Amino acid sequence: MSHLFPTYSKWEIEPASAKGSYMFSTEGKKYLDLTAGIGVCNLGHCHDEVKAAVEAQLDKFWHVSNLFPVAIQEKAASALATASGMEAVFFANSGAEANEGAIKLARKATGKTKIITFEQSFHGRTFAAMSATGQDKIKQGFGPMLETFVNVPFNDLEALKAELTEDVAAVMLEVVQGEGGIHVANVEFLKETEALCKSVGALLIIDEIQTGIGRTGKPFAFQHFSLNPDIITSAKGLANGIPVGAIAAKKELVEFFGPGSHGTTFGGNPLAMAAACKTMEIIFEESFLDEVGKKSEFLISLLQEKLKANTAVKEVRGLGLIIGIELELPVANILAELREAGLIVLNAGEKVIRLLPSLNITTDELKEAVTIIENKLNIYSNIAI
Ligand SMILES: *Cc1c(COP(=O)(O)O)cnc(C)c1O
Repeated sequence: MSHLFPTYSKWEIEPASAKGSYMFSTEGKKYLDLTAGIGVCNLGHCHDEVKAAVEAQLDKFWHVSNLFPVAIQEKAASALATASGMEAVFFANSGAEANEGAIKLARKATGKTKIITFEQSFHGRTFAAMSATGQDKIKQGFGPMLETFVNVPFNDLEALKAELTEDVAAVMLEVVQGEGGIHVANVEFLKETEALCKSVGALLIIDEIQTGIGRTGKPFAFQHFSLNPDIITSAKGLANGIPVGAIAAKKELVEFFGPGSHGTTFGGNPLAMAAACKTMEIIFEESFLDEVGKKSEFLISLLQEKLKANTAVKEVRGLGLIIGIELELPVANILAELREAGLIVLNAGEKVIRLLPSLNITTDELKEAVTIIENKLNIYSNIAI
């Protein structure tokens, strides 16, 4: 009998060990893992260099309060700021916590409270992050929400214009909606959103928690669209599996998070910082990111080719290595069947299979995954219509 709250309906696989893109169960079965946590272990499980960096820090000190200057924290902040074109970083422990901080910073800096987010968005489970999230199922039973969040349809400029008035503190968005079904924002919508924000004195916050740290083939997904956000948030892939979250913001915002204004006991933990520094050092290398782009093209075109005649498949889409396969039918049972066939994947909403492989997965591993998906989905091809 489990003493855990049943907040997650658990899968049938109990991991015993994991390395790279493979996981081994306590029953001795081998699985190809195309989830990398949920887009967390971007360098694969138990990456040797990240492991060595954490071990080296373990021998020095594990935790000191944020009252001390810590060199490894400065180094991580500098790497994150440089890669994102930002000035200052605040380290937290999770994605939701990073978004909380971004929302607080936006309110304080603008003196305004209204924040616009989008339908199907996901920003986390804490109160402000949940209020920001554009999915009713996340909010059920927890009301009332914070009142100052307004959701508008994604990629809908007219709807945004109607809400984006002078009293708006910020617009917060995912460039690729992850949990909401792998929806990529269109470029005109993003550019126009940025311009509208500037014209009414609202900040642009980009939630890069799932899309950042090389996931899309750039350090951050907003860089595909030449955007210039005021704040970004990061978490999932930032330390390859050690809990961490971060806000990175422009120079004009630095003064609003002065001494005593915001804080966290665990944020910026030295072990997480050691992992983050090594992870960023490897992923932000141009040759590494180029490979992610190539693997993305390889995987998307192979999926499109192998699934194009399949009537159960509606669309394959994505950016970099955040990829969705939208089906005509619910995916829950199919995910379980794929696990039985040795492949671990996620859903994004009811009808989308979500692939978030480690970024250093090999093309042979990708081929293996596509074969398993193709064979399984073939069974559904004619039933779906
Ligand atoms: C996962 C996620 C979050 C929440 O992060 P947690 O670490 O679970 O709090 C927020 N925004 C996006 C886009 C995410 O994918």
